[in-house]
Formats: sequence, structure tokens, C-alpha cells
Amino acid sequence: MTILKSALSRMVATGAFAAAVLAAPAALFASTPGTPPRPIRVTEQDIAASNQKVAMAYNDLLSMWTNDFAKIGQRFVAPRIARYDDDILTACGVISRNNAEYCPRNNTIYYDEVFVAGMAKAAGQSLGTDGDMSAVGIIAHEMGHAVAMQLGHQSSSSYENESTADCLAGAFAQQAGREGSLEKGDLNEAFYGMSMAGDPTPRSTGNARVDAMIQARLAKQSHGTKDQRMQNFQDGLSGGPKACLDDFRNLN
Ligand SMILES: [Zn+2]
Repeated sequence: MTILKSALSRMVATGAFAAAVLAAPAALFASTPGTPPRPIRVTEQDIAASNQKVAMAYNDLLSMWTNDFAKIGQRFVAPRIARYDDDILTACGVISRNNAEYCPRNNTIYYDEVFVAGMAKAAGQSLGTDGDMSAVGIIAHEMGHAVAMQLGHQSSSSYENESTADCLAGAFAQQAGREGSLEKGDLNEAFYGMSMAGDPTPRSTGNARVDAMIQARLAKQSHGTKDQRMQNFQDGLSGGPKACLDDFRNLN
């Protein structure tokens, strides 16, 4: 319950987001030329507001997926949610700062509360909104991993797993839109979060063939490019859960 002093004085650099949400080797994402990190100061109040938003989204996510699993004759085992503010040792190994992760071994979603609050603040400042949906998007994405894994989907392709989770996050946004709980600007915030978390768009090498090769390689690894992430989220947003996983094909 106590928020460590270190967390309060922590600066969340937006440039670090790309490396943080991605599971692929950090070195690949360490440098995003031309975009120096813009530090965001996260206050205790920001963290409290963000945690409250995450708790609401968590409850909405549980009720959505519990219902949707029941409709296809399955039982969704509600993942626990745990926040942290410094590197922690979990059943899935060490989870570092500036991250969020679903650990299937103990069915728990972990999120760095300072990082998530910083992401919402950065989105808000950039878009001139409250930024809350970008935090919700992170939790919806992690819940998407839980949904897919509990239905037995775990690809050896990282991109496959990530694109499914992004799609299921979009499906949650669709449901939120139906229930009227989306505010103006929320989808832009979700997209903002996605683009921050997507692999960097590489600069042109000046050689079309080399560029195409780099794009093709990027497209297959990790979370995918920004455009891919937006497309995967959009698939779920317009098509619902069945657009993400065949298990839900009979859902309306
Ligand atoms: Zn993921």
C-alpha cells in the first residue's frame, strides 16, 4: 500500500515506453534516433487517479470475459492484478520497472503503477485529454494475453501472441463503446498508447530493397510495427472477440 519515495521522484521518460512494453531484446529498441526522451513527472495524485482507472477497467474486463467465456461453454479464471513500483521477483521471474506483464504461472497481471500513470499523463499532455484510456489499454492488452492463454493459444511467434492481445484489447474497447463508457478522445488515447508501445518505425536506408527487408523482419517480431498494432486493435474494435480468436466465432 505504501508508495515508495523513489517512485514519487521517478521521472518517466516517454522514449522508454517503446522498450518497456516490448518483450524483445532491449538493445533493439534502445535507440529511437531523433526522439529524445521527454521526461514526465508523475505525482502521487497521478498514480492514485491512474490506479483507480485501472481498477475500474479491471472489473469491466473481468465481467466481459467471464460472460464471453460462459457463452462459449468455458470458464474464465479471473487473473489477479498486482501493482509494483520497482523490479520485482514473480513466479515468472524478475519483472522490471516500466513494464506490465501477464504471468500465466500464477494467473496474475503485474503493472508498474508509476509507468502506467506516466503513460496516461504523456497521452493526456500530447492529446489535450485526460489520457486515461492509454492506461486502460495496457491492462486490456495484458488481460488479452490471459484470455488467449486460457483458451489454449500460445504461439511460438511472439508477434502472433501480441497481435491477438492487441485485438482483444480492441474488442474490450468495442464493448466499452457499446456500454457508453467511452469518452470523446478515448480511442485516440488508446491508439496513442499503442503507437508509443509499437516497435519504432525505422528510418529509410535509401535502398528500397533493404527497407522492405527491414520492414518484413520487423513485421514478424515482437509487438509489430505501429501500423500493425493499430490495425490489430482496430480489428477487435470493429469485429469484437471473434475477430481475434476463432473460439468466439459464435458470439454476437
Ligand atoms: Zn503483450
